[in-house]
Amino acid sequence: MKIEMDLIPMEKWGYNLKAPVIISGPCSAESREQVMETVVNIAKNPKVSIIRAGIWKPRTRPGTFEGIGEEGLSWLTDAGKAVGKPVATEIANATHLEQALKAGVNILWIGARTTVNPFGMQEIADALKGVDIPVFVKNPINPDLELWIGGLERLNKAGIKKLGAIHRGFSTMIKSEYRNKPMWELALELRRKLPNLPMICDPSHICGTRDYIQEVAQKAMDLDYDGLMIESHRDPSVALSDAKQQVVPAELDRILNSLVIRDRSTNDPFVLNKLEELRDMIDSIDKDLLNIIAKRMEVAKEIGQYKKDNNITILQSSRWQDLVKDRIKEGEKKGLSEEFLSVYLQSIHGESIRIQNQIMNK
Ligand code: PEP
Ligand code: MN
Repeated sequence: MKIEMDLIPMEKWGYNLKAPVIISGPCSAESREQVMETVVNIAKNPKVSIIRAGIWKPRTRPGTFEGIGEEGLSWLTDAGKAVGKPVATEIANATHLEQALKAGVNILWIGARTTVNPFGMQEIADALKGVDIPVFVKNPINPDLELWIGGLERLNKAGIKKLGAIHRGFSTMIKSEYRNKPMWELALELRRKLPNLPMICDPSHICGTRDYIQEVAQKAMDLDYDGLMIESHRDPSVALSDAKQQVVPAELDRILNSLVIRDRSTNDPFVLNKLEELRDMIDSIDKDLLNIIAKRMEVAKEIGQYKKDNNITILQSSRWQDLVKDRIKEGEKKGLSEEFLSVYLQSIHGESIRIQNQIMNK
């Protein structure tokens, strides 16, 4: 289902923004000099169009650096003025909003730890009524698309039409090389539901380390994101937050200049023709896949009936474990990833059990 939202495109937000929109600046404002020096160096690359800095930092444990607070707002706005670019910060409640607006912050974002909280989002939405300011909403910490959409809806209903989403990855139990698993499919599903909502990728918080920011940023560009938010600090080794993932301005410059920005579409009839051909193939393979899955479920039904007739339990876990091992081995030989295969097998198994359960209890 598509969702209706009244949105103003980024190009009309009044800051001359053109995709890809690059948002950069330190994770946190730490001192007037740190913000100014970082921003002046970042802004040497004209691709940077919005300056960021965190003023209030939601930390997991108390006693760590929780942001410089209101005092830092003028460091940020002064740095923005010095380089002639709009500035953005994270707000987490109505007080932050009031202080940010008073200081002249141009753009706001809602952090992942606030998007999870409907009361917090509603408080901010209510405080934003009658205010004309662009707001980005980061994905919630947990992989819950509805919660992300709900947050966006609350702001839109309060009259915020200059609205965008920031994809910063999700916290999951599954071990991965990322600090926050990207789960691209969730962001792409949001895009499918809200095709006019600008989507920014935040490779810094996805990666949690400098090492593959470039790679994730490129992937976002290849997936047609509208921009990137990348943290940069004049000296990450002494940063008071997210030290491992911030890059020095020179590294940001290198990342931005090596990004390949591909055309959104093409008019070349040869390219279009080839693409059409490949898409036809996918359509036809999908049809075959569905037929085969349906066939598998038919057999599962038969097994269910057989188990019922002979009074055997549905789940025979050793058989399933052997099957999973075998299928993963076979699948990997064909170049499929273990991660994909596990999810696929779990899903097939779940449906199989559901069907057999129905038969057993008929
Ligand atoms: C940040 O942008 O510095 C931040 C705290 O991000 P997130 O809300 O994505 O964790
Ligand atoms: Mn950060």
